[in-house]
Amino acid sequence: MQVNRIPVLSDNYIFLLHDPQQHTAAVVDPAVAPPVLQLLEELGAKLVSIFNTHHHSDHVGGNRQLRQRFPEVCIYGGAEDRGRIPGQQVFLLEGDLVEFAGRVGEVFFVPGHTRGHIAYYFPPVGEGEAGELFCGDTLFAGGCGRLFEGSPAQMVDSLSKLRALPDATRVWCAHEYTLKNLQFALSVDGENPDLQTRYHQVQEARSRGEATVPSQVGIEKLTNPFLRWEQPSLQAAVKAKEPVQTFARLRGRKDQF
Ligand code: ZN
Ligand code: FE
Repeated sequence: MQVNRIPVLSDNYIFLLHDPQQHTAAVVDPAVAPPVLQLLEELGAKLVSIFNTHHHSDHVGGNRQLRQRFPEVCIYGGAEDRGRIPGQQVFLLEGDLVEFAGRVGEVFFVPGHTRGHIAYYFPPVGEGEAGELFCGDTLFAGGCGRLFEGSPAQMVDSLSKLRALPDATRVWCAHEYTLKNLQFALSVDGENPDLQTRYHQVQEARSRGEATVPSQVGIEKLTNPFLRWEQPSLQAAVKAKEPVQTFARLRGRKDQF
């Protein structure tokens, strides 16, 4: 399974999963259809699955046009998003399994950004390989999604599930927000040497026009304030006493940043 990253709109990423043996493809969160259709053409691949993480238009906007071109495509989304994802046929719950290219993907229910948000995790197949996590707008590189339809407690619970994955897991989040996220992170966790190092690396990558996605779970655990609600220094930075309150205050500050 090869993962192709397609930058679209101002800062979205669509991920196209490709099985070169079977000449098939699956797409995660197609905001728009034309660049997906173009890449499918170049690869000579047939689209078999659309994996949506949540109902926002910058994640599902291409569903219908892709189905027009590939009528047999199967459109997946969360059960709680019933009625909100165009063309949805499969309504997934926590623990459900999906399949692509001989790989099995596990579904996590991760409400918070929206009430129906799910993530897809494809565990590694071989020794020394990394798993692939497609987490939409829940976990970002250096940040997390805004709470449009969920509570801080829900989001802490959702992010805890993703934080528990192996450190090498690649984090394919749906937006290029990393630099801004790390600027905020430095404002609350400025003494963190891993964060300082990462910030300089990301700054250089962005100045060269490079993508900073995928990230990895391990580096997120070390540098992302929205996974570090147990850290006494972060709790002190927002004058909070426990994890959910810490998360809530961090999220509130980020909303104003
Ligand atoms: Zn969203
Ligand atoms: Fe989004």
